Amino acid sequence: MKEDYYDILGIDKNASAAEIKKAYRKMALKYHPDKNPDDKEAEEKFKKSAEAYEVLSNADKKARYDQFGHQAFEGGGFGGGGMNMDDIFSQFGDIFGGAFGGGGGFSGFGGGGRQRVVKGSNLRIRVTLSLEDIANGVEKKIKVKRKIQAPGTTYKTCGTCNGSGQVTRVTNTILGRMQTASPCQTCGGAGQTIDKKPADADAQGLKVSDETVSVKIPAGVVEGMQLKVTGKGNDAPGNGIAGDLLVLIQEEDHETLKREGDNLHYDMYVSLSDAVLGTSKEIDTVTGKVRIKIDAGVQSGKILRLRGKGIPNINGYGKGDLLVHVNVWTPKTLSKKQKDFFESMKDDEHFEPKPESSDKSFFEKVKDMFS
Ligand SMILES: [Zn+2]
Repeated sequence: MKEDYYDILGIDKNASAAEIKKAYRKMALKYHPDKNPDDKEAEEKFKKSAEAYEVLSNADKKARYDQFGHQAFEGGGFGGGGMNMDDIFSQFGDIFGGAFGGGGGFSGFGGGGRQRVVKGSNLRIRVTLSLEDIANGVEKKIKVKRKIQAPGTTYKTCGTCNGSGQVTRVTNTILGRMQTASPCQTCGGAGQTIDKKPADADAQGLKVSDETVSVKIPAGVVEGMQLKVTGKGNDAPGNGIAGDLLVLIQEEDHETLKREGDNLHYDMYVSLSDAVLGTSKEIDTVTGKVRIKIDAGVQSGKILRLRGKGIPNINGYGKGDLLVHVNVWTPKTLSKKQKDFFESMKDDEHFEPKPESSDKSFFEKVKDMFS
């Protein structure tokens, strides 16, 4: 059972954005790895509160979490410690105004006293996919503006930290004085500063480049899921490593199909005469149209299950089904002749409802479907 995000941050559900931020600041300071070296429990709490903040600080995600709880992100980017330390520290820029995260394109800690590898910042981008793309998997070409090392930039050892990348500082926090080994502000922890750079480069020797990144999106992705393309975020200066490109999945509504997990639903309408006589109908699926047979005497509310015509499970557990809901359309107006016909059928035994056990009620079927 996953802990409630509000409980993790120690706030109630009506907390304002400012209160959420304040609560997270407090947790992040308390459980910061620099303050709790080699303390796995503190690290866990640090990660959990970062995950809670990531969701609750985003109006969209918060609304979904409030409505669906952790299920809202099932299979998504945040399940089971999906945030790594780099993500957490890159989030810190907003919270601490750079006090921990390092400035600009620098982010991420290498951890406990070692010379850290400076990582470029992550880029985030949204991609909207059709249900067909989701069902079949798709390769998307995404245009990004990423910072790259400007050719001609050279580096020298940082004079402030003598190349170690760290300085020991005493910080006054709401929890008292805290001694931290923090990244050198001069070089951002890289141990190097810029010697020479071309005119079009920024202070870190980087410049913006328009690039097209090809992203392979596997079949079965879910709205809100985040895919990571390693190394396609912003470059880091010097010999650091590039950040990642984080691709947030958004799902486009389909005209006729509704998704529910890996299953799809389709509402089919048949005329009264087709219901009585039987027919065949063409319906949409995510792999094109298929024709299905409707038996004579079909009842409204019947659900036809097309096995394997749903969405492939993202974790490889087979494919969902397509559930076709039959709705018999009762005519609202009739000609004189038709009216006379139905009048004459009023006491006819064939028109008398005689449900058998196979004509289960709608609610029983729904119960079956989810069991
Ligand atoms: Zn330095």
